[in-house]
Amino acid sequence: MKKHFTGPAIPVVLIFTCCLFIAPAVALAQSANTMTKEQINAALDEAYTKFKEGKEGKNADYIKELARVDSRIFGIALVTADGQIFTKGDISSMVSIQSVSKAFVMAQVIEEQGHQALQDKIGIDATGEVFNSIVAVERMRGKEINPLVNPGAIAATSLIKGADSSAKWKSILQCQSDFAGRQLSLNMPVYISEAGDNLRNQAIAHLLLAYGRMYFDPVQSTDIYTRQCAINVNAKDLAIMGATLANGGVNPVTKKKVVSPETVMYTLPVMATAGLYDDSGIWYYNSGLPAKSGVGGGIVAVCPGKFGIAVVSPPLDEAGNSVKAQMVIKYVVEKLGVNPFLVQPK
Ligand code: GLU
Repeated sequence: MKKHFTGPAIPVVLIFTCCLFIAPAVALAQSANTMTKEQINAALDEAYTKFKEGKEGKNADYIKELARVDSRIFGIALVTADGQIFTKGDISSMVSIQSVSKAFVMAQVIEEQGHQALQDKIGIDATGEVFNSIVAVERMRGKEINPLVNPGAIAATSLIKGADSSAKWKSILQCQSDFAGRQLSLNMPVYISEAGDNLRNQAIAHLLLAYGRMYFDPVQSTDIYTRQCAINVNAKDLAIMGATLANGGVNPVTKKKVVSPETVMYTLPVMATAGLYDDSGIWYYNSGLPAKSGVGGGIVAVCPGKFGIAVVSPPLDEAGNSVKAQMVIKYVVEKLGVNPFLVQPK
């Protein structure tokens, strides 16, 4: 009888012993790589409660219509790379996307023309100047500007394929809509308000033309750019746009391929180095996430392979970034332990 038991006894002991060591290791690995629904909901709830009463910051007012937006709008959304949607607060109020659109037009240019074209025809280094700086263009004679601030963004818009202005605009609106997973539309009052007051952006476009770095008519390019900035979005739209980048360019909700994984690979580093105006370094240092903000009050951040997170709250700080959006995203990243640079030693 003994013999009958010694055979199976060794593997049983082995399996039991292995389980003692392997099970905790697997649990540890899982806790580092996965977030439960409960953890995500708790993080969003806590962030919402903690920051909702904040009164810091002020709506942008250099575009007159933005000063009229309800500064109490406060919405948070997190969308995972496998398409689960988590929201908190006001996700139905729309704001104009403004500069957040620049990250996605940049991705569209990379997708259409390749990453080298973006680097050669526009540039990818941070300019070190304010987002609508003419000095940045003049200093480098139109070279080495950045697609996430106005000069490079208008140049990027001018590079979008299309036979004429209307075709280019339609293509941009469609691409932003594909990122968001629904048909987006124009906020007409914001567009009209900015279009009547965008001489500075027109000057930038003309200066770029003078240096041979504008790739379509400067007046029409500035107009398309102004429209692109006036696209209406809510926090959920922005989070799905971010989640599409987090998921290698495939919208995790609609499953549509918007751009390639390689395009995302070249898009995220520029968001990391230049996504939050003059505070891009401070942002990246504290969150570890590529992000893009806009003066409409939205910020979207991308945790590659994991999720996109977005917050809409119009009051901005001195650098032009939504005060609450920065606080919420940093809080959630820390709470979920998902800073990509946080690695536990093996
Ligand atoms: N349409 C705005 C402008 O050109 C965008 C500014 C921003 O969000 O950074 O001034």
